[in-house]
Amino acid sequence: MKEETKIVVAGRHPEDNFGIVNAPVYHASTVLYPSLAELQKTHAARAAGERVVSYGRIGTPTTWSLEDAVAELEGGYRAQVFPSGLAAVSHAMLAFLKSGDHLLMTDSVYGPSRIFCDNVLSRFGIEVTYYDPLIGAGIADLIRPETRLVYVEAPGSQTFEMQDIPAIADVAHARDARVMMDNTWASPLFFKPFDHGVDISIQAGTKYIVGHSDVMLGIVTTTKDCWPVLQKGANMMGQTAGPDDVYLAQRGMRTLSVRLKQHMVNAIAVAEWLKGRPEVHSVLHPALPDDPGHAIWKRDFTGSSGLFSMRLKEVSKDAIAAFLDDLELFGMGYSWGGYESLIILADPTSYRTATTWDNTNPLLRLHIGLEAVEDLIADLEAGFNRLNAAK
Ligand SMILES: *Cc1c(COP(=O)(O)O)cnc(C)c1O
Repeated sequence: MKEETKIVVAGRHPEDNFGIVNAPVYHASTVLYPSLAELQKTHAARAAGERVVSYGRIGTPTTWSLEDAVAELEGGYRAQVFPSGLAAVSHAMLAFLKSGDHLLMTDSVYGPSRIFCDNVLSRFGIEVTYYDPLIGAGIADLIRPETRLVYVEAPGSQTFEMQDIPAIADVAHARDARVMMDNTWASPLFFKPFDHGVDISIQAGTKYIVGHSDVMLGIVTTTKDCWPVLQKGANMMGQTAGPDDVYLAQRGMRTLSVRLKQHMVNAIAVAEWLKGRPEVHSVLHPALPDDPGHAIWKRDFTGSSGLFSMRLKEVSKDAIAAFLDDLELFGMGYSWGGYESLIILADPTSYRTATTWDNTNPLLRLHIGLEAVEDLIADLEAGFNRLNAAK
């Protein structure tokens, strides 16, 4: 089956539900058992890792429907939902790490994931070393006997470096470490983590899977080998997600392929236009042919999403504010992956530790939504006019 077909078909079982197309929303905590024997049988099955309806927190056909669909799209074995992308990131790490372990973390990781490492993992005696996202096979020099996880994210948050994930995975596996990836940018449509050596893949479902800026959700997919560890870890930490949010995520996911392809086209058009602007120093988008990460992107990814950055030529804070404050279509706000365009000012120098970043050229991260490209460009053009007037 092609990816577009999987997005429509995966995880649905109308035959179990009166022929109704979408999975039903089960609101459940208590599950009743007809007899002691039945109760004990169900709990033994659950302890053995079987999928049984036993208690709301452990999962229902609503959660399994989304989990199965995402696992199939990612190309992994099984998946687990979490109440946010960050909960997926933090609980995946907690499931696979223990006191005394060492984690190798890309310096271009999503900010809150970094805050979790520095403030929570450190309290449990788990050491974190940040590495240059462009390190590739050079990661070998940083791996220690106690290194259990190498965490990758491509392209990097805000700065969009492409990582050579197969090269990193080869080295990590040879040294008995697992590879965990934040695959939110490409979504499972445009990058297949398990074909590139990833063992544990994380989606902030909040972004493109939900697609409508109205639900928080995270999903972790693993290989068969890693699954029992992740599943037990999630269950012991009480992790699940509310059925209405899971339903909305599944509803959003069915249109992922049409949405994402349009985000891709719109974003490339806006990125190309920005490159020609005299106010712009550079555009950071791996699908652009002269981007430093383009060769890796082209080798490993099948598409690009709507998120990229640009760096402005040196300009005052007031001029940036004049540009941003009166944009009509670009909202100023965090998150991304919905149908609408967004823009934020970011400063990678405020967090990077393993690599240096020069913020002389201010960085703006854009999410290109599903509006007409002409309208988005007109909005940005008016912004540049304000910026130039305020210089
Ligand atoms: C937003 C985001 C997350 C966290 O997701 P939330 O649902 O907001 O907690 C994780 N990784 C990346 C790359 C993100 O953009």
